[in-house]
Amino acid sequence: MSEILSSNLTYLKPSETVAISAETKRRQALGEDIVDLSVGEPDFDTPKAAAEAGIAAIQKGYTRYPPNIGIPELRAAVARNLSLMSGGRALNPDQIVISSGSKQSIFNACFSLFGPKDKVLIPSPAWVSYPQIVHLCRAEPVAVPGDPEWGLKVSVKDLERKYDKLVKGLILCSPCNPTGATYTATEIKAIAGWARDHGVWIIADEIYRRIYYGNGPAPSLLDLPDEYLEKVVLIYGAAKAYAMTGWRIGVAYAPMPVAKAMAALQSQTTTGANHPAQWAAATAFVDEAVERDVQKMVAAFHLRRDRVVERFRQEAPGVEFVEPTGAFYFFFRVDGVTPGHDCTGTVFCEQVMAAGVAMVPGAAFGDDHWVRMSYAASDKDLDTALERLFGLIRRLGARAA
Ligand code: PMP
Repeated sequence: MSEILSSNLTYLKPSETVAISAETKRRQALGEDIVDLSVGEPDFDTPKAAAEAGIAAIQKGYTRYPPNIGIPELRAAVARNLSLMSGGRALNPDQIVISSGSKQSIFNACFSLFGPKDKVLIPSPAWVSYPQIVHLCRAEPVAVPGDPEWGLKVSVKDLERKYDKLVKGLILCSPCNPTGATYTATEIKAIAGWARDHGVWIIADEIYRRIYYGNGPAPSLLDLPDEYLEKVVLIYGAAKAYAMTGWRIGVAYAPMPVAKAMAALQSQTTTGANHPAQWAAATAFVDEAVERDVQKMVAAFHLRRDRVVERFRQEAPGVEFVEPTGAFYFFFRVDGVTPGHDCTGTVFCEQVMAAGVAMVPGAAFGDDHWVRMSYAASDKDLDTALERLFGLIRRLGARAA
């Protein structure tokens, strides 16, 4: 293959999380009993008012090309939504670009800002697509290992250690996929200050901002004064908190020249995001009934988080994990599960798949000592999965002993 394909794809690997989820669906279709905890997708339906707005948009004939930067109604709705979450800060809708999912927003931001010889710092473990996207820009991703004593988050010291003059960007994900850890307001301010002082761009992936188990939405770069935001592209979207993964609506809020470049880029690639889906999202971001649905979903994720944490403490007391404060992932360490044999995440996930549960090895996120489990699943599925998981942990422990 390598002689056919261009060097643009030298580093390209298909997304491991998408691949595991596809393999799980294939096995389920063959009749295998597998609980899928691999995928980063809410198990809830899209809130009714948002879905109906999408249907109405089709019926009203909003089926032609949209403005490539996004319809003004959606950009205004996003500005209002983000402003409400950030203490009333004013956001200029002209700086908001709508794309086909926040994955495309991140791609557009990176492609507009980073190129050959640039380095981009990525706190690790990290979402699978960040290093891949940076490679597609022909820039160099540089992993910054997070501190295991600190929910695998990075500090300014960790960033400083990996910094040199070629570093042009940092991709910061909070609440974090895969760990569920959330940076506090103080930590965000320190990192933003460090980036500003070094002239480093921050791509702040806040797609999980609403799925937070503290008070209100998670702390954000948008909570900081303007002087911190001159080199920040904020990423947000409808997929996760609004249970709209399939509608493919992503949001970027960027300084004007970058927003313009991102819009121009997509005018030459996708022409913009699905038109009726933009109307659905425009309702989702401001509708009061949708807001109540979001609150109910977040409350359900919170209960599931508590249940998973509690059961791990009781039934797998030796297993180290990051206590999640946001998103819907639980990240646990498996090398201690088989004392003396250092089990890897990859081996563990093969075995847990054989026991009837799909999860993602930490290798996909840059550290194979760990495994990621999504708890965006029904209580029943979660209970079945935990029984199978703890059964396997006990068996592996007994075999190793
Ligand atoms: N960022 C993170 C951290 C994610 O986990 C995901 C989805 N798994 C995305 C971005 C992309 O989301 P979207 O569906 O909006 O493209």
